[in-house]
Amino acid sequence: MEKEQYLGVSVSPYTYEQILMDLKKRIAEGKQSTVIAVNPEKVITAGRDPVVKELINNSTYQIADGIGMILASKLKGGRVKERVTGVDMMGRLLQFAAEEGHSVFFYGAKEDVVRTAKEKLEAQIPGLKIAGYSNGYVKDQEALVSQIRESGAALLFVALGSPRQELWIKDNMAKLPNVKVFQGVGGSFDVYSGNVKRAPAFYRKFGLEWLYRLAKEPKRIKRQMALPKFLLKVFVQK
Ligand code: UDP
Repeated sequence: MEKEQYLGVSVSPYTYEQILMDLKKRIAEGKQSTVIAVNPEKVITAGRDPVVKELINNSTYQIADGIGMILASKLKGGRVKERVTGVDMMGRLLQFAAEEGHSVFFYGAKEDVVRTAKEKLEAQIPGLKIAGYSNGYVKDQEALVSQIRESGAALLFVALGSPRQELWIKDNMAKLPNVKVFQGVGGSFDVYSGNVKRAPAFYRKFGLEWLYRLAKEPKRIKRQMALPKFLLKVFVQK
């Protein structure tokens, strides 16, 4: 399926299931794949920073993380109909890994956060094998890369915030040939550890997660201004 472009940034019109199906094929072919979440904030950053734009556009899947991308697609008569969030994509990938017998590795967030996320997810997902983890503040990168390589993990989740995590993935992919799937997951370990609460189902259903987060954390308004700015730009662009 063809990707859509918003202000020069690609978005995949795939659902969770379509991505998993495609990934299964790519893994069987021995290919490496990257998943990156796209939201209005990242598109605006990409407009200023060509490195970020390239990072996004060179990924295998650019998932439409956030209501802003759905609205943009609607404005332009596109096919991106439902959100594919980073945190839920990670959940689906973990389930997939457990079913297919692949092990996974977690890199990022604070030590107690990543450890708790690992313990909780292992308890929740039968058969899930988390072969190793590291907090996101370790200094010795060579040791880290060896640790990931020796863990035998086929899927790697990196939570360092954006675009740091995506840059890290780009710089280290070639050193990790046995890792077939890389996803930058931002604050997802914080969510799975229970440290950060997700918006209640009502807000999620109606695409109002941003409103819930804004009420909890009013200083997010600065980041959230990216959404109207983004939509306006998409609207005026031919
Ligand atoms: N983080 C990290 N190392 C760093 C900076 C950040 O591991 O040097 C972690 C931080 O602890 C948090 C995550 O990266 O768990 C950042 O999440 P945030 O919600 O800021 O990411 P976003 O999805 O908003 O880009």
